Amino acid sequence: MIDKRLLKEASKTRFYLVLTIGLGMVTGLIVVWQAKVLASIVSQVFINQYQLAQVQTLLIILLGLIFIRALLAWYSEINAHRVAARIKAELRQRLLEQLFQLGPVQVRGERTGELTNLLVEGIEALEDYFAGYIPQLVLAVAVPLTVLLFVLPIDRTSGLILLLTAPLIPLFMILIGQWADHLTKRQWHVLSRMSAHFLDVLQGLTTLKLFGRSKDQIRVIGRISAEFRQTTMGVLRVAFLSALVLELLATISTALVAVGLGLNLIYDRITFEKAFFLLLLAPEFYWPLRLLGAKFHAGMNGVQAANRIFEILDQPVQTSTAKVQGASLNQQRIHLSFEKVHFSYDQTAEIVKGVSFDLGPGQKVALVGPSGAGKSTLANLLMGYIQPTKGLIRVNGLPLESLAGQEWRQLVALVPQTPYLFYGTVAENILFGRPGATEAEVRAAAHRAGAQEFIEKLPQGYDTPVGEQGLKLSGGQAQRLAIARAFLKNAPVLVLDEATAGLDLSTELAVQGAMKRLMEGRTVFIIAHRLATIYDANHILVLNEGRIVEEGQHQKLLEQKKLYYDLVRAYGGCQE
Ligand code: ADP
Repeated sequence: MIDKRLLKEASKTRFYLVLTIGLGMVTGLIVVWQAKVLASIVSQVFINQYQLAQVQTLLIILLGLIFIRALLAWYSEINAHRVAARIKAELRQRLLEQLFQLGPVQVRGERTGELTNLLVEGIEALEDYFAGYIPQLVLAVAVPLTVLLFVLPIDRTSGLILLLTAPLIPLFMILIGQWADHLTKRQWHVLSRMSAHFLDVLQGLTTLKLFGRSKDQIRVIGRISAEFRQTTMGVLRVAFLSALVLELLATISTALVAVGLGLNLIYDRITFEKAFFLLLLAPEFYWPLRLLGAKFHAGMNGVQAANRIFEILDQPVQTSTAKVQGASLNQQRIHLSFEKVHFSYDQTAEIVKGVSFDLGPGQKVALVGPSGAGKSTLANLLMGYIQPTKGLIRVNGLPLESLAGQEWRQLVALVPQTPYLFYGTVAENILFGRPGATEAEVRAAAHRAGAQEFIEKLPQGYDTPVGEQGLKLSGGQAQRLAIARAFLKNAPVLVLDEATAGLDLSTELAVQGAMKRLMEGRTVFIIAHRLATIYDANHILVLNEGRIVEEGQHQKLLEQKKLYYDLVRAYGGCQE
């Protein structure tokens, strides 16, 4: 139950480990000393009939020791929590950075709810591990060892009883721990599934309501909750059972020591003071071991979470090797070409099957095709979030892989189907396009995106909070903010994923107009859903099952009466 990688995290704060061990050893010594002083007070008062005044110094020392012991416990607790907080913050940061590095495509595979659970609950579970389990582990070694060192020279029998029974406690702990291990794993798994499902339901609430399926979902959540309750009860049962076994062991062993000491006393083989000293030490010997049993389960949760955290941290990040400076490209004339590009997310199915096309500077290529054809995958390839499994994508003749991802994405602006608005003001949301832009530039971008008018009508204008907890903007308004972002970014390449949802006519016209202005003079790759956009394109690619099945211009494609014709006809002008 000592996770090597977690310990490595802790060793970054080596001071913590040294201090924890140091404090553990001092605690061990104080425990012995306290028992010694107490034994001698009791012996002097009962056997030697001393008055209170005669044992006053010893009493003061005893009080002092109790106080120091409390102080040590307090300090080590504070220290442990401080270090746990530092490790948690660092791991959370690394996990987030890794998720950013992995990018939207790889992260899509992980369910967002499960990730949220890991980032919040999972990291919190490490608190118990670092602040509870590890310090207790140190105490469970240091205190019994110190106690044994003092008991053995005084009374070999008691020492041997302690020595022989002590390993039984960790042994039982390991046995029970192995049993609990798969239960804890299951508990963690069910909790993650519950979070993931809950998020799914929240995000899909409208759809669920629309199709009258919300009752089913409530039932599913109910079922998962019941499963979670059962596994939690299972874990608790094991925890209580192990506590029972450990208590029993410790009590029986203490009783054995007591019987041995009693016999020695009767036969006068030991003084009362020594016997009492040893009797006081016996429970102190088992105490940290018993506590370790209690903290074991909490710590195990942390280890489970850590496994998942390290699994994500270990995922290889696709990085390009040769780094060509993005700035060295002629940014005014970006020429993109796909050369027999293949791609698969996993070994099972190829999603893109030998796609080739050319996108000259200032050209507009429109991609149409049924849902699942691979349109978004092509856009992700173009943005460098994923690399072709075969074939090449070239930017002005250079392989895209030789450009650092970040630099390439500086040259590409994306207007997604449903733009995400972060919690922040309208101005801050536009600023995502180019952090550091001036207020005037933000306003100019909003103006060109046709967003100026509605922004000024908002309660606090550009300072109105929007996003998750702010004002809800309509689809058309959010789209215009995304267009404003793209204007601000002013990148030479534009990837547009047109919205499928219909907007009211005037909003639609406003969005269309803004899009048109945005496209001017840029190299544009559009996942098109509107006839108007398609008319405007220099070239249309019809994608089906990862292959380009038709390409050319609108009129010519219509005349062929193949997939393109069907798509246009079936949807009355709107694709999908
Ligand atoms: P389109 O945009 O044309 O609707 P996509 O490119 O989104 O199509 O998807 C094409 C296929 O690739 C679909 O079968 C989809 O399930 C699969 N797919 C998309 N993204 C991923 C992913 N991150 N992991 C695995 N499969 C994916």
